[in-house]
Amino acid sequence: MASIYIHFPWCLAKCPYCDFVSYASERDAIDHAGYADAVLREAEGRARQLAKRGRTLEIGSIFFGGGTPSLWEPAELGRVLARLREIFATKPDLETSVECNPTSLDEARARALKDVGVDRLSIGTQSLRAEQLKFLGRLHDPEGAMRAIAAALASGIPRVSTDLIFGLPDQSTEDARAQAEALAATGLRHLSCYQLTIEPGTQFGERKKRGLLPMADEAVVADAFLAIEEALEARGLRHYEISNYAVPGEEARHNLAYWRGDEYLGLGCAAFGYARDQHRTGHGIRWRNAIEPKRYVEATRGIKDDVLGEGDGVSMFAEDLDPTALLRERIMLGLRLVEGVDLGRASADLGIDPWTPERLRAIDRLAERGRLTRDGDVLRIPRAAWLFCDDIASRLF
Ligand code: SF4
Repeated sequence: MASIYIHFPWCLAKCPYCDFVSYASERDAIDHAGYADAVLREAEGRARQLAKRGRTLEIGSIFFGGGTPSLWEPAELGRVLARLREIFATKPDLETSVECNPTSLDEARARALKDVGVDRLSIGTQSLRAEQLKFLGRLHDPEGAMRAIAAALASGIPRVSTDLIFGLPDQSTEDARAQAEALAATGLRHLSCYQLTIEPGTQFGERKKRGLLPMADEAVVADAFLAIEEALEARGLRHYEISNYAVPGEEARHNLAYWRGDEYLGLGCAAFGYARDQHRTGHGIRWRNAIEPKRYVEATRGIKDDVLGEGDGVSMFAEDLDPTALLRERIMLGLRLVEGVDLGRASADLGIDPWTPERLRAIDRLAERGRLTRDGDVLRIPRAAWLFCDDIASRLF
């Protein structure tokens, strides 16, 4: 399945832990129509380029992420969505998602998004404790988050998810469990639960470097991970990916496509994209767009036929991914899923043998330590070892 990701790079404020490309702005200061025009110029350019190469993509998911795309005027977001559906062939069961913050989502806005064709909202609750939200630099309070969830559910949007962050300093296991339970009790059928990570280059990263950031106890974080799992599974939400839970059938198809190594068009400033290189078996191309909004918008005015390449102004870089790099990536992403990664399938289009002697030895060593299971071609990480996923995957490189 191919998908489209559209990056909307503005938020009302910058959160101190955030390493996404996002710029603080008042809603009125954003050029809503101008940004929509730029994204569509890029989309048309990429479609022409694909056509020239004889490629057609059938799109199964369109995802508006950010930043805070719920700040985007629904009419402009809807204009982008409608045109994308004209430019690209889409599957009949297309999933269309928008990331929302509680400060820019009420029932009227949720209905407006539904009216333009959005069928899935993902709401950034992050915490149901006022002091934690303050620590995270969020602008909403717990009541605001609950109001936004209730509004989304009442709007008739078919699918609603929310994000919860755990692993905050001094957060108990019981607090993490109670918050997950409270969110599940609202009737949500999908939840994303992320451990707080401190990224370099963020405000938190700087404070950590100077020893000024309180850190969570790793053992408590591991317990919280398991407590959340227990609470959500008891309510029928299956833990289908390290950070994601869903009632069966409600999994986020967009993210599943990433984890399965499918192609995606990234549109908008700072967006990444990935496409197979049809001229070289097993190779792919990844690109990233200019990260500064004005520069991106300006560059799209010069789009002719080809925007996928270094030096075109729209893309900041484009890199070749060889079969070995792609297989490593598929292992790393696939192991995040409860279904694991089928190494035979993951390497089928790459033209390489995944069962190298080094990898087979690493699989045996990990299996002996209870960190990996092998069932035919399928490798899986037992849930108790999921927190070590990155380390386990790197040993299979
Ligand atoms: S709202 Fe989300 S994207 Fe925006 S700064 Fe905060 S964490 Fe980053």
